[in-house]
Amino acid sequence: MPIDINRLQQALSVEAERGFSNLQGKQFLFADFLHVNLREDLPENWEMSDRLQAQTLASQYAQYNDLSLSRRQHLIAETRRLLYEVRRREIAETSALSGITKPQKKPKIEAITATEPKSTKKITPDTEIKDIEGIGSSLAVRFQLLDLHNVRDVLSYYPRDHIDYARQIPISDLKNGDTVTVIGTVKKFGCFTSPKNPNLTIVEIILRDRTGQIKLSRFWTGKRYSNRGWQEIQKRLYPQGCTIAASGVVKQSKYGLTLENYEVEVLEHTQDTIQSKTVGRVVPVYPLTEGITPEAIRSLVVQCLPAVSQIVDPMPDRLLRDYQMIRLPDAIAQVHYPDSSATLEQAVIRLTFDKYFYRRLVSLYRRQQQKAIHFVPKSQAIDQLEKIIPFELTNAQKRVIAEIRADLQGQTPMNRLVQGDVGSGKTIVAVYALLTAIEAGYQTALMAPTEVLTEQHYRKIVEWFMQLNLPVEILTGSIKTAKRREILRQLETGELPLVIGTHALIQDGVNFARLGLAVIDEQHRFGRDQRSRLLQKGEDPHVLIMTATPIPRTLYLTNSEIEVSIIDELPPGRKPIQTVILKPSQRKDAYDLIRREIAQGRQIYIVLPLVEESEKMEEIKAAIQEREHLQNVVFPNFQIGLLHGQMSSAEKDEAINIFRRGETQILVATTVIEVGVDIPNASVMLIEHADRFGLAQLHQLRGRVGRGSAQSYCLLLSSAKTQTAQERLQVLEQSQDGFFIAERDFQMRGKGKDEGTEQSGHSSFSIEDRLPDEAARQEIFQIAREAAERIIKKDATLENFPLLKAEFEMHYQRLQGGAIFT
Ligand code: ADP
Ligand code: MG
Repeated sequence: MPIDINRLQQALSVEAERGFSNLQGKQFLFADFLHVNLREDLPENWEMSDRLQAQTLASQYAQYNDLSLSRRQHLIAETRRLLYEVRRREIAETSALSGITKPQKKPKIEAITATEPKSTKKITPDTEIKDIEGIGSSLAVRFQLLDLHNVRDVLSYYPRDHIDYARQIPISDLKNGDTVTVIGTVKKFGCFTSPKNPNLTIVEIILRDRTGQIKLSRFWTGKRYSNRGWQEIQKRLYPQGCTIAASGVVKQSKYGLTLENYEVEVLEHTQDTIQSKTVGRVVPVYPLTEGITPEAIRSLVVQCLPAVSQIVDPMPDRLLRDYQMIRLPDAIAQVHYPDSSATLEQAVIRLTFDKYFYRRLVSLYRRQQQKAIHFVPKSQAIDQLEKIIPFELTNAQKRVIAEIRADLQGQTPMNRLVQGDVGSGKTIVAVYALLTAIEAGYQTALMAPTEVLTEQHYRKIVEWFMQLNLPVEILTGSIKTAKRREILRQLETGELPLVIGTHALIQDGVNFARLGLAVIDEQHRFGRDQRSRLLQKGEDPHVLIMTATPIPRTLYLTNSEIEVSIIDELPPGRKPIQTVILKPSQRKDAYDLIRREIAQGRQIYIVLPLVEESEKMEEIKAAIQEREHLQNVVFPNFQIGLLHGQMSSAEKDEAINIFRRGETQILVATTVIEVGVDIPNASVMLIEHADRFGLAQLHQLRGRVGRGSAQSYCLLLSSAKTQTAQERLQVLEQSQDGFFIAERDFQMRGKGKDEGTEQSGHSSFSIEDRLPDEAARQEIFQIAREAAERIIKKDATLENFPLLKAEFEMHYQRLQGGAIFT
């Protein structure tokens, strides 16, 4: 099968739109689809360098699930760029062959200011871009790469910013930390590849205006940017004296002001015209990809704008009035060329409202089509369980169990997230849910992200299940073939009521007779696709997700269709963990405390920091060395174990079990112990280079201690001196509340905002980013949900709302998600 660039591009764009979650297509997961296709026999006309790059990219898709969000974004951006390049070359070649090597027409800049298009043909929302006057076929193809096919698409290609030329910020007024757009002329351009690292290319532009100058710098990673040709093109893009607008975050460095990883756009190639044409105007700035100039997209939008009046607002008047929304055609016109900042805001609000409204409508509609498995409540096993467990449930546990049991008897499949801080006792809550399903005659599955965790669950649950006379099996990668075959058989016949496992559960060949409930522990470790693959093992099974990483309310509320239960109470008798930040000079104090604790029979974790993927071997080396050092020099009298990510799972289990049995007193570990390990006798958690961890992760690590009744300690060693690093760690000193910590972490990161501002541009922008603040977003989210619920309540089939239904169907297809890459 030859590679189909178009399909790949579509897949990439859907994946990007849906938040890089490795979507499930009809047949393939997104990453598998890319992996396979980029390795296909590539056509002759591909250049060698492209083939090589395709190969490299293909192999990265094999590891897609393990990549961080920003690396996924980056990978996708790289792939899009490659495909775009190849495509562009193909087009150039074919037009050269057919002899129509038209000189590329420059898009008409005057169009920006013109209000009427030149075209005499009437433009409608369905007019195709290629039929618009002044748009050549090659330009039309480039717009297609942005998913812009007709006028309607263009009109809903919203600007990510507006530049108000009337209110420029003079460079001399810029302050550290400001997010700004500055306009100036290029004084100097430089582009060079790091002599030490051929993968790193740096572009630097000195920009100046009447009041001063600022350095723009941007890093490009990848061999292809070390290419002379590429650098020459960059240089030609920003000739001396041309006027550009650059946006980004201002940084004060010892070399003066800089704007790092800026977004830039060329306004004018000569200096003189800018005044006359743009002063006093508000100009939209669109998310772009390579190959399309800002002028081209602006000019296209202006040509399409007259069609706005033909757009019909599908939203019932009643809703618009009740929620005080402006009409859709007005919103679209204003979001591009606003009359004022107030009308712009109204437009953004309406468009965001629509986005959430349709999303909710689709989800409600889909849900009512699903039929839930109805569990008839029995409580024999549950009553028995209550007698077995050695503690009394907390009120929070009781409440959450009741919420779950109500869901399990409801009309639609449960889709519930249980958030509970580390140690809040989520496992037992899951067991109540599992038993409810099992008693109703269904099979159940519990999936955990690591073997260690899976074993731990198994150990605890098997003990309870044995007393209830219920079989339970564990399925991981290290289960031997014969045993595995037997488990699969029992799942298929339906005789096994519960299987606990890792990813091994979602492999082909694992089939359930009747899966009624899937419980997924520590969900942030699983991609959305992995979850959905588990669910596909049954017919609309109930789903319960458990997480100890408190996702900030602000995030989950506006991003998912999941119900949330919170266990906001720890079992009684737990002492708060004493948390202290230590300077390197206080290391001795830490070691003294450790000796005292071990003398009292307690155990210690020492955690070493995360390193880059590429430095995996270094991490191992560091861990081994640190253990040796501690063993030989610092604690010669104690037994010290080691746990790191490159060990086989058998070795890991061994290390943890030895520690569990108390044969080692100290366990030196990389962050593999982050999730869920439960050893109540451990009382000290010492974290090296604590400033290199995220707050949520530190909180997780801290949660490994304080599980028994003894006083526990968390020692954060940090040599970081900056105020932000200190402030960050202090949050942990102040609070043990995972929710609070997560919110603070979220806020603090939001402020810095320099993470993940990758060059991928277009895909990462969405309309709600233009709302003034998070509160506004939540409010719109709430009312949009309510509006959708009202509609569905009134008319579940939408027969009485034909316009809405048409619009809905478009969104429905989209949200089916990934159907494209089958
Ligand atoms: P997590 O929410 O972190 O997964 P676990 O379910 O592992 O927490 O529970 C942590 C520990 O607390 C376990 O040893 C568990 O048996 C115990 N536990 C759970 N609920 C209670 C309770 N209500 N009272 C006392 N101990 C409890
Ligand atoms: Mg747990």
